[in-house]
Amino acid sequence: MDIAIGIDLGGTRTKIGLVKDDHLIAHAKIKAVTESNLLDHLGEVAEIVDQLMAQEGLHTNDLSGVGLAFPGIVDSQRMKILSRYVKYTDAHALDLKQWAKDRWKIPLVLENDARAALLGEWQYGAGKGSDNLVLVTLGTGVGTAVLIEGKLLRGKHFMAGNLGGHMTINLHGSVCNCGNIGCLESEASTWVLPHQIENAAGYAQSQLAGEKEVNFHRIFALAQQGDDLAVHIRDHCLKAWSLGIISLIHAYDPEKLVIGGGIMQSKDDILPVIQTMVRKHAWATEENIAIVPAVQVEFAGILGVSYLVNQH
Ligand SMILES: [Zn+2]
Repeated sequence: MDIAIGIDLGGTRTKIGLVKDDHLIAHAKIKAVTESNLLDHLGEVAEIVDQLMAQEGLHTNDLSGVGLAFPGIVDSQRMKILSRYVKYTDAHALDLKQWAKDRWKIPLVLENDARAALLGEWQYGAGKGSDNLVLVTLGTGVGTAVLIEGKLLRGKHFMAGNLGGHMTINLHGSVCNCGNIGCLESEASTWVLPHQIENAAGYAQSQLAGEKEVNFHRIFALAQQGDDLAVHIRDHCLKAWSLGIISLIHAYDPEKLVIGGGIMQSKDDILPVIQTMVRKHAWATEENIAIVPAVQVEFAGILGVSYLVNQH
């Protein structure tokens, strides 16, 4: 049997799945322990994998490989984590291939999480049948990945297509946590919301003033009720995402652009605005570029790395 293990390391949760013949046959989610080191966390993940395998009556020799999606820049040839902005301080020093070999005697494939999600959408979701795709995830940060003529864009330093969230869209913006100025992500993402809200004019008069944890779902709801600050933030962010997406379209010329991520639970408030902005402001093409929501919302990353395992 050819069973691939898929692991999608997220900012708040790690998703684990077993994939057989393109189908997810078992899955689990655990809390991503941000204080911990990655090796300890992977130990925890491996125990869950073993439990899922026991549940399904599977053995180590049923496994074809393990695919790991990581939220940062990774070297997907040497299977090393390169990113400086990692929560797990030991991550870049780990020999992940050796870890998989020691644990299950199987090969390991490593890929950036946005690229993994893009592959999942391409093969099994919203991007099916389109070989020129851009994926944007709107969430804690803004993730992007690009497929051109059926090939993942990676580049010399494995960054190509991944830094769409760190394109400057505001000349007068603040310094992003990446060091750049006025990034799409530092203009419009969940991590920047608290700061944006507290420093806004009209904060005291807004219903947002009393709220501890603010997310976009709440912003959209309050904006609907006419809360001035919520309206301001909603419109600012919709414009920022639209302009970012227009730049991605100009850079990569996709036939389809897929938008995923947690903020897309408000997709009815988001998609029509972005589609209108793109039609109005993007460089004209003969055909419209389809801007569509992600389909494999939960498990695109796991399906994507499993696809890579099968390709190897
Ligand atoms: Zn940035």
